[in-house]
Amino acid sequence: MDFPFHQDVIQQLKADGLFRFLRRVEPDPLGRSGRLMIEGRSVILLASNNYLGLADHPRVKEAAAAAIQRYGFGSGASRLISGNTPPHAALEERIARFKRTEAALVFSTGYMANLGILSCLVPPEGLLIADRLCHASLMDGCRASGCRFRVYQHGDLDQLERLLAKKPADQPTVIVTDGVFSMDGDIAPLPALVELARRYGAAVFVDDAHATGVIGKDGRGTVEHFGLSPQSVIQMGTLGKALGGFGAYAAGSRVFIDYLINKAKTFIYTTALPPAVAAAALAAFDVLEEEPDLLKNLWRNRTYYAEGLKSLGLDTLNSETPIIPIMIGDSRSAMIFSDHLLEAGIFAPAIRPPTVPRGTSRIRTTVMATHTRDDLDYVLETVGKIARSMGIL
Ligand SMILES: *Cc1c(COP(=O)(O)O)cnc(C)c1O
Repeated sequence: MDFPFHQDVIQQLKADGLFRFLRRVEPDPLGRSGRLMIEGRSVILLASNNYLGLADHPRVKEAAAAAIQRYGFGSGASRLISGNTPPHAALEERIARFKRTEAALVFSTGYMANLGILSCLVPPEGLLIADRLCHASLMDGCRASGCRFRVYQHGDLDQLERLLAKKPADQPTVIVTDGVFSMDGDIAPLPALVELARRYGAAVFVDDAHATGVIGKDGRGTVEHFGLSPQSVIQMGTLGKALGGFGAYAAGSRVFIDYLINKAKTFIYTTALPPAVAAAALAAFDVLEEEPDLLKNLWRNRTYYAEGLKSLGLDTLNSETPIIPIMIGDSRSAMIFSDHLLEAGIFAPAIRPPTVPRGTSRIRTTVMATHTRDDLDYVLETVGKIARSMGIL
């Protein structure tokens, strides 16, 4: 049965150039990481969070296959019932070691982790304050908490301080931020947030989805990048991006993790990750540690590509990471730009409202460790040509 409201919404989205659809992708026929096959054609992939190529790393694939042989595929129940296997426990120990925290807890996805953690992080009379560009899952988590919820303009520490100064001193308060902002590719000013939190008796919750395996000398994330104490923040991150798998985690004190096991509904009332997914994540941590060249190559590629875009004269906002937006402005032009790229064999999507604010539609590109120099040169040349032909340069 069709509900007329749905058809109306779809028509409006189409009229506004905001209609979304699914694109089918297949692996590159020659198995090259950093490429995909779309509509029968191999294209350069500039739209993956698989920054290090771990999603197709042989050791990760082997670990998953071996765990399927040992444990079967599905976990069969939630963690608190009968779904808690040795790979789950080993993964949580591993994450805690990696993040240098007392303990860690695995969730099914980053979205669910944020929803579950933020829903129970502070008592009902508490206050959550988030950066305006926080990921949708953080915003939804803050709203779902039912607590007071305030938003400050992206990176506006003065506005944040005004919000903190207004609250009762004893109101339980958490500042919520992405570590690496997923659409702009800039890094949160974590030391300043921690300092403000200290001054006003608040805590900081940082979402390291795009920071884990990407920033910090060993890829440990925002806390390592800034040389902060892991005890100074509450952290979450995901296993589906640089770690090339699926799932997410919270990392913090033993008390905090015990609290989440008892109170985070998105942990309690959901099926445990398949053990093979946990085993694959363990292997990904091994590779990250034992093959440091992956992280070095990622940053070598990032620097080369970002400097190339800048020297073309393109606006890449304040990107400091392998997420590099090419600012276009209106959503239709962004769509056309993305279509031209695909025609030329490059896959990079247009990101439009409501994912980003109106008037800031962009091509969101992400660099991978596994891109070749030839790939990046071709991308730079093609982006330049399209930008000139569309009057953006
Ligand atoms: C991708 C992302 C998430 C969601 O993680 P999933 O595991 O994909 O659900 C959460 N927060 C941020 C900042 C992200 O970029």
